[in-house]
Amino acid sequence: MITLEKDQSTHTESVQNYVNQVFETVKKRNPNESEFHQAVKEVFESLIPVLAKKPEYIQHAILERIVEPERIISFRVPWVDDQGNVKVNRGFRVQYNSAIGPYKGGLRFHPSVNASIIKFLGFEQIFKNSLTGQPIGGGKGGSDFDPKGKSDGEIMRFCQSFMTELSKYIGPDTDVPAGDIGVGSKEIGFLFGQYKKVRGGFEAGVLTGKGIGYGGSLARKEATGYGTVYFVEEMLQDRNLSFEGSTVVVSGSGNVSIYAMEKAMQLGAKVVACSDSNGYIYDGNGINLETVKRIKEVEKQRISAYVTDHPQAIYTENCNGIWTVPCDIALPCATQNEIDQASAELLVSNGVKAIGEGANMPSTLEAIEIFLENNVLFAPAKAANAGGVSVSALEMAQNSARLSWAFEEVDSKLHAIMKNIYQNSKKAAQEYGAPGNLVIGANIAGFVKVADAMIEQGVI
Ligand code: NDP
Repeated sequence: MITLEKDQSTHTESVQNYVNQVFETVKKRNPNESEFHQAVKEVFESLIPVLAKKPEYIQHAILERIVEPERIISFRVPWVDDQGNVKVNRGFRVQYNSAIGPYKGGLRFHPSVNASIIKFLGFEQIFKNSLTGQPIGGGKGGSDFDPKGKSDGEIMRFCQSFMTELSKYIGPDTDVPAGDIGVGSKEIGFLFGQYKKVRGGFEAGVLTGKGIGYGGSLARKEATGYGTVYFVEEMLQDRNLSFEGSTVVVSGSGNVSIYAMEKAMQLGAKVVACSDSNGYIYDGNGINLETVKRIKEVEKQRISAYVTDHPQAIYTENCNGIWTVPCDIALPCATQNEIDQASAELLVSNGVKAIGEGANMPSTLEAIEIFLENNVLFAPAKAANAGGVSVSALEMAQNSARLSWAFEEVDSKLHAIMKNIYQNSKKAAQEYGAPGNLVIGANIAGFVKVADAMIEQGVI
């Protein structure tokens, strides 16, 4: 992905060889974990200029250490369904890196969850959390449990069983989980209730994304989507572009997607398409967000139900078809690898000007290359979607202080954080010879702080 400058010496080549060797070891040690390999490859390639300039990172074996989770916990989650059948799922928590703070990262409940998915997410989280400027380490967890089609009673019993085990390993100063795909405020409520019961104390800071009535932060629900749009807005401004009057496509219709659409609309964009895992809707009049919120947040229906209220809209099966819709700005906010090479080529040939990754790793490495080669503005996930974890850290701060801040206060802090992440990523890209390449900039800016802390703390 990185094109090395011609004047970079054999030194850079030997750093490249070293990085390749460490990556080969990662692949050997973690066979059949393609998503994890993909995330590591992207970060490692970005780090070549910084490793070439700062040999201490190689001397202290930072790459070899940072790629190995401090701890992986995998556990049985037995629960009983409404018919009295015993079911068993697998739970995970990857406590990846605590160099700059307690492990922090969401829990994902989705049938696709396995060690590779949780490790890629946990690895990304190290750099994302560092970029926020807040004192939080990297972690991630989840289960292959599928909340879709389950009753509230089933979800509650699953969450209680999951937390009975997880509670042994987490705490406000050790590891603070939050939501992700399939884990929203309902699941966080059940998880928090069980943690409280098992531990016998009200430790508000153990989970974030809590309900507002028991320690949650205003603007947490909106944070990832709003943050992604704030980040993209900064990036657009640098090219004298803006959301105002632009056509936007947002994949997904979950937490990140809904609030990315909301903020883009508030900034004057017309959002014409969104999706779920079955298909996508196109509404040339502009998506009616109240209908989407009702369908997805309240009624928990499929996105296809949108056309009942808006007959001018078109529903198409196959969620990836959404990238055939021409747009100025694309915000992938559903899941990993949803934009492949073919979709990226389509977006470019349809004139896309900017991509903002709301989801984690939604673009394949080949897709990213196509965007960068074609001078499309590209906001990588670990910078662009860091707003969620940033407000989670603000939730932890409010819990510690036993305070709760107004929506506007949290939102303005979020806005400032996203601007800062943009500036730091842009600056790092410039400093290390890749101006405008925010993939490289975000990876380097996130890495340096963690690597320095690891060196200062010794070989542990
Ligand atoms: P939700 O569960 O609220 O929504 C996920 C959305 O993506 C749904 O519309 C879902 O459709 C769709 N989706 C899920 N899996 C697939 C798939 N395999 N193929 C196509 N569509 C899919 O999750 P979030 O909005 O919280 O998370 C979305 C992304 O953002 C994830 O990558 C997550 O890691 C990332 N993220 C989330 C943060 C947060 O604060 N929530 C923070 C940072 C990143 P359906 O309803 O059919 O399942």
